[in-house]
Amino acid sequence: MTSTVHRTCPLCEAVCGLTLTLDEGGHVTSVRGDKDDPFSKGFICPKGASLGRLDEDPDRLRRPLVREGELWREVGWDEAFAAVRAGLDQVGDRSSVAVYLGNPTAHTMAGSLYAGPLIRALGTRNVFSASTADQMPKHVSSGLMFGSPMAVPVPDLDRTDYLLMLGANPLESNGSLCTAPDFPGRLKALRRRGGRLVVVDPRRTRTAALADEHVFIRPGTDAYLLFGMVHTLFAEDLVTLGREVNGLDEVREAAKHFPPEAVARRTGVPAAVIERLARELAAARTAAVYARIGTCTAEFGTLAQWLVDVLNALTGNLDRPGGAMFAKPATESGGRRRPYATGRWRSRVRGLPEANGELPVATLADEIETPGEGRIRFLLTVAGNPVLSAPHGARLDAAFERLDFMVSVDPYLNETTRHANVILPPPRVLQSGHYDFALLGFAVRNYARYSPPLLPMDERPSESQILARLAMIASGVDGTEGDLDAFVIDETLRKATGTPGSGVEGRDVAELRAALDGRDGGERRLDLMLRLGPYGEWSGKGDLSLRKLLDHPHGLDLGPLEPRLDEVLRTASGLVELAPPQLLEDVERLRAKLEEEAPEMVLIGRRHLRSNNSWLHNVGPLVGGSNACTLQINPADVARLGLAGEAVVRSAKGQLTVPLEPTDTIMPGVVSLPHGWGHAGSAQRVAAAHAGVSVNDLTDESAVDAPSGNAVFNGVPVTISPTGVITAH
Ligand code: SF4
Repeated sequence: MTSTVHRTCPLCEAVCGLTLTLDEGGHVTSVRGDKDDPFSKGFICPKGASLGRLDEDPDRLRRPLVREGELWREVGWDEAFAAVRAGLDQVGDRSSVAVYLGNPTAHTMAGSLYAGPLIRALGTRNVFSASTADQMPKHVSSGLMFGSPMAVPVPDLDRTDYLLMLGANPLESNGSLCTAPDFPGRLKALRRRGGRLVVVDPRRTRTAALADEHVFIRPGTDAYLLFGMVHTLFAEDLVTLGREVNGLDEVREAAKHFPPEAVARRTGVPAAVIERLARELAAARTAAVYARIGTCTAEFGTLAQWLVDVLNALTGNLDRPGGAMFAKPATESGGRRRPYATGRWRSRVRGLPEANGELPVATLADEIETPGEGRIRFLLTVAGNPVLSAPHGARLDAAFERLDFMVSVDPYLNETTRHANVILPPPRVLQSGHYDFALLGFAVRNYARYSPPLLPMDERPSESQILARLAMIASGVDGTEGDLDAFVIDETLRKATGTPGSGVEGRDVAELRAALDGRDGGERRLDLMLRLGPYGEWSGKGDLSLRKLLDHPHGLDLGPLEPRLDEVLRTASGLVELAPPQLLEDVERLRAKLEEEAPEMVLIGRRHLRSNNSWLHNVGPLVGGSNACTLQINPADVARLGLAGEAVVRSAKGQLTVPLEPTDTIMPGVVSLPHGWGHAGSAQRVAAAHAGVSVNDLTDESAVDAPSGNAVFNGVPVTISPTGVITAH
């Protein structure tokens, strides 16, 4: 007997609905796009189609491992947790404890609901995550402009007339900080309805090839290009603000230093093109500027993110249909107006600022290696592989050996978890419930979908239970996951019932608690958030609850994006802060580097449709063929440097020998290596057979975007030489 079931794909930010066929043993026999999902409408990509292979990967760990010297021993759960408790006690001082959260924690209910309480229980400020190797500049820019780091405007893809996209390649990545299943189809629809798509990128990516226009730009110079456009808007009197803002004059003054003719040399984009792009943006009936990872992971990442929204605001496109808009997620909770701040504390060794409660992963090795009070001696990683994904991963690889104790919550023995003393593997994906708390806050259409667990639990605890038990150990409390959930639920209800004007003002906490649905604490907390949320039956504005989502297994369409900036704004002034002082300060740094000579060769990353960072390389159908770890290089550079077959790439941090992939889709002077590879000797057998090399053996942890502390992966100076030739860097 087979069964047909539905769930959200948990593998990337596109949140596609999937239809799975399971045999009677619970094995996945087919995966298709869910045609009845109102958001994804049947779309699926090769990663989603391989979900069954990933879920049943024979290399996934099924029982906890404890390391004894070079050997691993499978142990029971109680013994594993006892070892963690002993390790934590041995280190003692919580200022020597650190946490690293990998990218998949943003895709799991466990990460969304239990990572926060776990960090609080550990009582440490040494919190690191993949965010500072990815999108932290956007959070900092949004925090400073709108008062909330999660207030990230997304392009209203389905209605816009003009989309300017920088450093993003959604045909390969399916979108990021912009939740849009079938992003490719939505871009094609934009063009079919007469809209215009312009892509700015150092490579002619698949997305760029689809566009009306592709503009090559030197890596890391997006902020200059965007400032050149801002300059043009002011110079040609094209500014059409749709609403009152703070800081317009300051932005005008700052832009005076970046006329198109001055930034053209630095960016490689002709002044006439910069001016034309600004005029097109201003003239379009509706338009949006959207920039992603290529612009975030650069020396001026936060300035670039800021200028994206400055352009959206100056052209009247911020918060209007067809422009850059804010989603209204079903689990959104209100927040206080208070100034957003970064740098509330700083890293011990390099003095880098905290952002969103995190320190930059670029300084994790410093904090482990450098002696003194507060040196990190205990590390907990959750679903992360920073040895491959953080800058200068080789240094981290060595630093992890110096830890007194390390715990990893991870399904794999990989390049990072091999350093752990204890590995705690979560159960299969299909044994876990799924709700996208974070990603639906960046959706291009309001939508909600809950996927309950499809398979019963076995002897393994759920990932939520693992994190909750760790939180209990860290807090020294004898309790269960249920106690933690009950505490969070009661706290939330007490706050809601005590808030004047809330839909439950003055109601009885016990009565509301008793009304919650859910088979476990995670579901009950989801029900609570849905009921209190903007469509919820306890908000006075709707009837949404967990029960309603369970009655709609394909998901619920909650309508197109609507203007809601006033609801979203959390600035003290109640206005958009167009010129935050911290960013104007960084503009001085940008100005100082305007005339700087660009390195002869620079390195950038790239995405592939069948990859997702480091974590899908052990799935046979997703590796090999076009998904290979090659160095893309322009044929003119191949000829100029006398290269053939393979080449040696050298940076200030290391060197790699890499197979060449000559292609005129990359601009001269730029080479590209994908990240997440470098699996030689891995216990993941498929990955080891397609090992590749780690681009992060070349990247430089000393380079960060100043306001956010984000790592710099794009624009890394390198030299390229034929194999067998020794050159000085
Ligand atoms: S695009 Fe993302 S969410 Fe959709 S099927 Fe592919 S991996 Fe899954």
